[in-house]
Amino acid sequence: MNEHRADNPLVALVQPIPFDRISARHVVPGVHQLIAEADRALNAIGQATDPPSYKGTLLAIERATEKLEYAMGVVEHLESVATTPEFRAAYNTVLPKVSAFWSGLPLRAGLWQRLVSLAQSDEAARLVGTEARLLKKTLDDFRRHGAELDHARKADLSRIDQELSQLTTRFAQHVLDATNSFELIIEDPAELSGLPESALAAARDSAALKGKPGYRLTLQAPSVAAVMNYADSSKLRRTIWRAFNQRATKGELDNRGLVREILKLRRQKARLLGFANFADLVTEDRMAKSGKQAQAFVEELSERTAPAFQRETEELRHFKHRLEGSSGELEPWDVAYYAEKQRRALYDFDEEELRAYFPVERVLGGAFEIAARLFGVRIEPEPNLPVWHPDVRTYRIVDDDGAPLGVFYVDLYPRENKRDGAWMHGLLNAKPPERHVALFCANANPPAGGKPSLLNHRDVETVFHEFGHLLHHCLSQVSVRSLAGTRVAQDFVELPSQIMENWCSEKAALDTFAAHYETGEPVPQELVERLIKARNFRAASAQMRQLGFAAVDLALHIDYDPDRDGDANAYANRVLQRYSPAKLPRDYALIASFNHLFSHSVGYAAGYYSYKWAEVLDADAFTRFKQEGLFNREIGMQFRERVLARGDSADPMQLFVDFMGREPKLEPMLERQGLS
Ligand SMILES: [Zn+2]
Repeated sequence: MNEHRADNPLVALVQPIPFDRISARHVVPGVHQLIAEADRALNAIGQATDPPSYKGTLLAIERATEKLEYAMGVVEHLESVATTPEFRAAYNTVLPKVSAFWSGLPLRAGLWQRLVSLAQSDEAARLVGTEARLLKKTLDDFRRHGAELDHARKADLSRIDQELSQLTTRFAQHVLDATNSFELIIEDPAELSGLPESALAAARDSAALKGKPGYRLTLQAPSVAAVMNYADSSKLRRTIWRAFNQRATKGELDNRGLVREILKLRRQKARLLGFANFADLVTEDRMAKSGKQAQAFVEELSERTAPAFQRETEELRHFKHRLEGSSGELEPWDVAYYAEKQRRALYDFDEEELRAYFPVERVLGGAFEIAARLFGVRIEPEPNLPVWHPDVRTYRIVDDDGAPLGVFYVDLYPRENKRDGAWMHGLLNAKPPERHVALFCANANPPAGGKPSLLNHRDVETVFHEFGHLLHHCLSQVSVRSLAGTRVAQDFVELPSQIMENWCSEKAALDTFAAHYETGEPVPQELVERLIKARNFRAASAQMRQLGFAAVDLALHIDYDPDRDGDANAYANRVLQRYSPAKLPRDYALIASFNHLFSHSVGYAAGYYSYKWAEVLDADAFTRFKQEGLFNREIGMQFRERVLARGDSADPMQLFVDFMGREPKLEPMLERQGLS
């Protein structure tokens, strides 16, 4: 195999990552070779006979898997942004082997013995800080992954993990295929009445690209959002809403059975490892510490939100009745549409009015400039990096003292071979002076009809959000890879991202970047005021929607028993009904395309509550900037040094307390939402 090594860029990845040279044919031989290398290194560590040490045992385990992890990160990334049938086939071939390698790692008896004796050594007793934490977390992690199980139970666990990996991958691919298999061609523009010009232009371009007449609507997020918010035709909204919420429920792409299987396997896994349920297993090392505590948090917030939610729903129903002189029910596909109309009536605020002020170039520049002012860094174009698609932009991030920190890629627009949503991916945690490598992806409206890409306010927040994750990755100063950057507890990881969104709703911050794409005018003061008022419009409904996702996630991973409770989709719909302003139809199937919960072995399973949990943290932490200055470098540097730089090198609650001087409070979030 070694003679191919030089030909295979995955085997010895260098910076810059040669995205232009990595193809499907490299995946299988490259990943197999790296697994073999890691396997040899781990065997050597496990079989060593000298006394175990921090460096020779614990750090050596870290190093043994570094190249494999790096290569698989690149492969996973390409699968999610530029896949082809060949690439997907290669990815599917290596995936079971890679997941077997990872789940088998803590089951290597030799390694476990060495770690246990290291833990009992004098050296271990003297470890402090990051090193002590690495040892404790590694031991806990090995236990949670079955290190203490007997031989037969280890084999059971291994089988469950492999099945989970395959089923969840199939789940994600079904969602992608079901999304892409839908199109609705509309030739008569009258049927699209209500849609803003930007959405019409995108639909026209999409049709032209497919060589079709008229307008092409898809299940990609921008197309769905335009119809749900603006289409006057209730028939059209119903068609798109139903298609979107019934994705992956038909024929070969039906995910509903997979969901039940996945939940069953997760439950078996938790029991095998001595936990009552899957939520307890995954929350043990998070801030919440247990599934019940996460559920209690969701319940408390739901109760505090419910009265305002009921009031908002009643108001929306009355609004619809007054507008139409009817007394019909509020249908699920009515909610976004009438809410948008109600928002405009109350606040004379049209989200589309703002779009002209948010050309994507300015938004990116604004996020970079705010980071520069707060955190003492510079962000500059890094030309000539190989990329996976010509639309991808490349940058470097440099410390004010000139030290190189990272390079990153930005991929903004939807493509058929790219998954939907927005995300940050940290490809490499470097040790200085090497540079961290990361990227963020979004699926914003591309330039269309001769206009630049203009973002709506939510897209702007998304860019700031993902950029916040990216800063967390790139400003890391933790030398141990598995405790660096964004590798923190899942209910803490959204703090650095969500806090950045705050700067998108402050006039002083908007003035640094938002400007009309034709006239260069800043966003008018009164438009910002209306935005701020409108932002809290139906805040309780938005919160209940998120809490519904969190509640269904926890219910499925704590209370749902696949043998007793039958159809997982029906069970989920019963939980979700409480959080929906309209009656959900029986064939509603949100969970069949709920990638967060089911497209990875763990992913956000039993972790969706984290978004709200972190929102409590971010609203609370932002009060310091709000009170002491939006661009206050001193506070910014404290946030950089006490939170962003420290990864998981200390308990997340400790990092929070180091920055705030106390534990988090619920009130700042409720105040920000106008719900206190
Ligand atoms: Zn995030």
